[in-house]
Amino acid sequence: MRQKIVVGNWKMNKTYEEAVSFMQDFKLFVRDINNVEMVIAPPYTLLNYLKNEVNGTNIKVAAQDVFYEEKGAFTGEISPKMVKDFAEYVIIGHSERKKYFGETNQIINKKIKAALQTGLKVIFCLGESFEERNQGNTKTVVETQLREGLANITIVEMGSVVIAYEPIWAIGTGNTATPEQAEEIHIFLRQLVKDLYNEETSLNIRIIYGGSVNPNNATNILKMPNIDGCLPGGSSLDPGSLTHIIKSFS
Ligand code: PEP
Repeated sequence: MRQKIVVGNWKMNKTYEEAVSFMQDFKLFVRDINNVEMVIAPPYTLLNYLKNEVNGTNIKVAAQDVFYEEKGAFTGEISPKMVKDFAEYVIIGHSERKKYFGETNQIINKKIKAALQTGLKVIFCLGESFEERNQGNTKTVVETQLREGLANITIVEMGSVVIAYEPIWAIGTGNTATPEQAEEIHIFLRQLVKDLYNEETSLNIRIIYGGSVNPNNATNILKMPNIDGCLPGGSSLDPGSLTHIIKSFS
């Protein structure tokens, strides 16, 4: 049985005060939930606060990115070792990193490798653009992203990887994939993991969906057998909405 997981990606949102206000409500709303792994990915500035705030709760912390070098002259970057002080998870390969910061599959692979070697768990994002889907290239695109992103990642390391299927056309647009569209790609990705590793790895790996998940569509998406959770962005900014999404599982 794969444990369900919901990862709230705050992106570049929330000041310290706003985070405090969110957590006051959220901790109360989810205090009895223990059937879903709950993860919040705040900006780096809030990692320390979040780490202390979730102490003694079921809530976990993720960073939104990480650099692949351990230390040195890389102004503005944060290493896996630094993140590890505050977070259990790190999101790597988000499409906004590709769009605005030029991340390639090779860079993503180096980040995944470095994060896993440091003992972080990785939420590895991939997904096709609107044009790629319209041209019928969705599977080719996600296959390349998966193969290149996971190059040289071992079977053992795969135990610490969550794959997030996030079609770019669905992120922040309100155009969510239908449950059937998402399920089709999740089945395809699971099969690819089986081909690249083995059956056990493919059955154990969690594949979550991201792209305009909200309290109204979460139930239908999350009931699909190969969708093990979700990665809401916009809807994770409100404690009530995020709680509603998490409760969509039960
Ligand atoms: C995301 O942050 O990866 C995301 C899917 O955002 P949204 O839910 O706002 O589409």
